[in-house]
Amino acid sequence: MLYQRSSTLFKSAETVIPGGVNSPVRAFKAVGGTPIFAKSAKGAYVYDEDGNRFIDYINSWGPMILGHAYEPVVDAVIEKAKQGTSFGMPTEIETKIAELAVSMVPNIDKIRFVNSGTEACMSAVRLARGYTGKDKIIKFAGCYHGHSDAFLIQAGSGAVTFGSPNSPGVTQGTARDTLLATYNDIDHVKALVEANEGAIACIILEPVAGNMGCIPPKNDFLKQLRVLCDLHDILLVFDEVMTGFRLSRGGVQELYGVDADIVCFGKVIGGGLPVGAFAARNEIMSHLAPLGNVYQAGTLSGNPLAMAAGLAMLTAIDNDQALFQRLEEKTRYLHEGCAQALTKFGITHTINRKGSMISIHFTDEAVVDFASAAKGNNETFKAFFHGLLKEGIYIAPSAFETWFVTDALTYADLDETIKAVEKVAQTL
Ligand SMILES: *Cc1c(COP(=O)(O)O)cnc(C)c1O
Repeated sequence: MLYQRSSTLFKSAETVIPGGVNSPVRAFKAVGGTPIFAKSAKGAYVYDEDGNRFIDYINSWGPMILGHAYEPVVDAVIEKAKQGTSFGMPTEIETKIAELAVSMVPNIDKIRFVNSGTEACMSAVRLARGYTGKDKIIKFAGCYHGHSDAFLIQAGSGAVTFGSPNSPGVTQGTARDTLLATYNDIDHVKALVEANEGAIACIILEPVAGNMGCIPPKNDFLKQLRVLCDLHDILLVFDEVMTGFRLSRGGVQELYGVDADIVCFGKVIGGGLPVGAFAARNEIMSHLAPLGNVYQAGTLSGNPLAMAAGLAMLTAIDNDQALFQRLEEKTRYLHEGCAQALTKFGITHTINRKGSMISIHFTDEAVVDFASAAKGNNETFKAFFHGLLKEGIYIAPSAFETWFVTDALTYADLDETIKAVEKVAQTL
C-alpha cells in the first residue's frame, strides 16, 4: 500500500499543528511511521487519502457502533443543520434525547449534556466533591477519564497516600487529591480508603476497562466497590464513556447489576459528533447549577446537530433488540479466529473480550490490570500493527487500545481479518 498523499498531508500538518494531530493517540508514535489521513468512511470501511480501503476496528475510538456514515444519523444532522446550528437557547431535542437516555440507563433520573467525555468526567468529579463536601478521589492505574488535570496521575511509591503528577502542568496540589489504586484489587482500594477516612468524595473507574486493552472487572469487583462506597459515604462513579450504549442498552450497570451514583457518557451517545454527558439520581443532580451551586456550563452544550446525531443513534440502538447479541457473536467469532491463527504459528498471546470490545496482548499472562497489560511485547505489537495495516486492517496504533467491533462488519469482513492475522502471525 502507498501512503504518499498521507505523508505529504502529515508534513503540512506538522508545520501548523503540534505533532500534526489534534489528539496524540492519532499519531503513530508508539508504532512508528506516519499517520494515515482519512478521507471518507462507510459502514465497516474507512478510505484514506491515497485511495486505500481498510476494515476499521477503531471506528472513531468507539462511537461508530453501527458503522460509519450510518444513514439515520447523517440524515438527522443534515435536516437539523438547515434549521440553524446553534442558538444558546434550550431546544426540544435536548429533552427528547435526555428522556430516551434516562429510559435506557438504570438508576438515573436526570442527565446533563456536555461536549466530550473529558468534560463529562471532569464535571462528574466536581459534582461528587460538591455533593459530599470532600476533596480526594480514587482512580485506577490504566483507566482513562479524559485529559483534565485530576486524572493525569500515575502511580508512585507513595501512591497509598499521595499521587504524583504524570504530566507537567498538573500541580502538586491537584495530584495530592487523586489517589491511585490497582484495577481489580479490592484490598488495595480498601487500604486507600482506610488511610484516607472521611476525605474521599468518589471512586471513579471504567467499569469494564478499555484504555489498557479490554479488561473486564473480576468476579464481584464492582459489587465490592459498591459495598465499600456505601460503608464510607463515597460516591461510585462509572465512567461509561466507552461502554455506555455499547456493552448493553443500559451499559455496565445493567450488565453487571451494580448501581453507580454518577455515570459518565461520551462516544456512542453522540453518534460521531462531539457529545458527552453525565447522569445521576435527582438527589445528586439537584446540586448542579442552576438548581444547586455546583457550577457547570457550556456555550455549545446540547448543540442541536450533536443532539440530532445522538438521538438518531440511541433510537436505533433502543429499537434493535438483537444488536448486542449480534455484536457479541461477531466479536466471539473474531476472538476464536484470531486465537487459532496466532496459536497455529506459536505466537504467545492473551485475548481479552467483553461484548464488542476485544484486545490482543502479546503476553502469556492473564491481563487483569495495568501492570499485566504493560507486560505485552511491544515490538511484536508494532510488527503486528504494521502487518495488518498492509493487509488492509486498521487497528489502533497502540498496544493499550481496544478494538471496537461494529455491527456493519460482515462475517466475510471478519474472515478477511482473521486471514490477515494468520498471514501476519507467520512473520512475527
Ligand atoms: C474516550 C474516553 C474519555 C474521554 O472522552 P473524550 O471525548 O475523548 O474527551 C473518557 N473516559 C473514557 C473511558 C474514554 O474511553
